[in-house]
Amino acid sequence: MRTDRTFTMLKPDSVEKGNVGPILEKITSAGFRIAGLKLTQMTKADAEAFYAVHNERPFFGELVEYMTRGPIVAAVLEKDNAVEDFRTLIGATNPADAAEGTIRKMYAASIGENAVHGSDSDENAEIESQFHFAGRELF
Ligand code: UDP
Ligand code: MG
Repeated sequence: MRTDRTFTMLKPDSVEKGNVGPILEKITSAGFRIAGLKLTQMTKADAEAFYAVHNERPFFGELVEYMTRGPIVAAVLEKDNAVEDFRTLIGATNPADAAEGTIRKMYAASIGENAVHGSDSDENAEIESQFHFAGRELF
């Protein structure tokens, strides 16, 4: 299992607000290389599958609604210790708890609409990357 890649989505709110450029700039400035990048929109079935681990949680319906309401930017990012370093860069799930200077502190509106996704393990980074990208789309 490789440890130098993670998966992210710039969620619909980031696309709607025109924050894609600033967020990608922050990601590359932090030392992540972009190995894959696309604008795409998840179907309801896609979002239900992607977030299946949360399907018993009270916020699941809203989460699926939010994540499918418009396009997202999906990306595979490369850096040593990618998963942990990217979670540090994005900050806590709830922007109210996120550290100063983190992406969620700067760009997220709420715990639900929190601007970005970041994989939580090397294994999930691989699964999530394969969910969104074919091998020929990764460089
Ligand atoms: N979420 C929510 N309410 C909550 C917790 C999470 O709407 O109380 C949403 C939020 O968009 C979050 C996603 O569900 O990013 C996945 O939750 P998780 O706990 O995996 O947070 P993350 O790994 O994204 O920080
Ligand atoms: Mg998570």
